[in-house]
Amino acid sequence: MRFVKATNDACWREAQRYLVGGVNSPVRSFRAVGGRPFFADRGAGAYLWDVEGNRYLDYVCSWGALILGHRPPAVLKAAEEALGRGTTFGTPTRWETALAKEVAQAVPSMEQVRFVSSGTEAVMSGIRLARAATGRRKILKFDGAYHGHLDALLTQAGSGMATLGVPASEGVPPHLTQDTITVPFNDLKAVAQAIDRYGRELACVLAEPILANIGVIPPAPGFLRALRRMTRQNRILLIFDEVITGFRVAYGGAQGLYQVRPDLTILGKVIGGGFPIGAYGGSRRLMRLIAPSGPVYQAGTLAGHPVTMVAGWATLQLLKRPGTYERLEHRGRELRRGLIREGRRARVPVKVHQVGGLLSLFFTEEEVRTGLEARGADSRRYARYFRGMLDRGIYLPPSPFEGWFVSTAHGARELKETLEAHEAVIEGIA
Ligand SMILES: *Cc1c(COP(=O)(O)O)cnc(C)c1O
Repeated sequence: MRFVKATNDACWREAQRYLVGGVNSPVRSFRAVGGRPFFADRGAGAYLWDVEGNRYLDYVCSWGALILGHRPPAVLKAAEEALGRGTTFGTPTRWETALAKEVAQAVPSMEQVRFVSSGTEAVMSGIRLARAATGRRKILKFDGAYHGHLDALLTQAGSGMATLGVPASEGVPPHLTQDTITVPFNDLKAVAQAIDRYGRELACVLAEPILANIGVIPPAPGFLRALRRMTRQNRILLIFDEVITGFRVAYGGAQGLYQVRPDLTILGKVIGGGFPIGAYGGSRRLMRLIAPSGPVYQAGTLAGHPVTMVAGWATLQLLKRPGTYERLEHRGRELRRGLIREGRRARVPVKVHQVGGLLSLFFTEEEVRTGLEARGADSRRYARYFRGMLDRGIYLPPSPFEGWFVSTAHGARELKETLEAHEAVIEGIA
């Protein structure tokens, strides 16, 4: 397709005619921050250009998928070679095994892997497997977590200790959410109460080991370990949704970082090298319940897509080189310190949470340990901050509840550029 020169405004008008709300995923619409999105034209490293030729330093990085930044040459080359052999074959390829092996070696709890086409699909399949393995129906999840848009998980966050699922979206019949129980993150008492009450009906506890879809909220010390203990004692499967944290906070994901081994793991984003992907995996004993080995049906026409497999594999080759995660952690920490320092100077209260190249900023003086506390931060101030940063060419997530993603292409220069903009913008919103 060839495009004539266009403005963002013209693209946005046209998009709204033919695409619902002008987008294919709601958060891209900038509703949470006001204004209209810009239309991407190309990316390189830590930067993104729009159709008008404006350059942005990109902290969205396709919602965390682009941990190497835009167009890493080795990944592009591998994907192009794969494309040269064909797009899809519908029969096994060696590349599926290669990526699965790489994942299994990095994440020891995943002895076997099944690839699917999105994180949502992987979560849905993981829950089906957990229900089959335990013969139980209920799911425990945490307020503030996001696990994709499957019906059973689109539940409203309540303020009680354990909320039974009420649909958070029209079109979800209540009977599909009534087996979903939601408790506050980092609240072991609430988990214990829910297990007391529903223990023998619970198939799984589903957790983002670090909340990363309500801003970033790390687990309190010992929280994940306690979840592991409590689930094991009650024969409940522990599922870590590491779609964001997998290969992001450490090569072995959050489970490697915190040394807690779940029964099932969900992956996505980073492992696709910029192409659509999801994956779930666990011990051979569990995974053999999946078809064709076992009775749990799950399939996908384009699952394990050859180009995705190769791009994912090439991405992991680069990520596993020594020093990668130390550099991401260093960069993330410097960024966090700078953001806090300037916030203090401007007397604007900020809380910054960061684990490796995953970070977010809350405009609040209070501690942020739960979804409820995250929603208590000042979203309007974030919107003003976002627009100020965007005016200075820094593209932050267009919502106060999304994480910032630092890629390996974000270097000292990019950090300096960010903190200079931050200093100016935060003074303006004091
Ligand atoms: C993005 C995300 C998903 C959903 O993945 P999709 O590929 O968008 O379907 C699931 N869980 C978490 C933690 C995510 O961040």
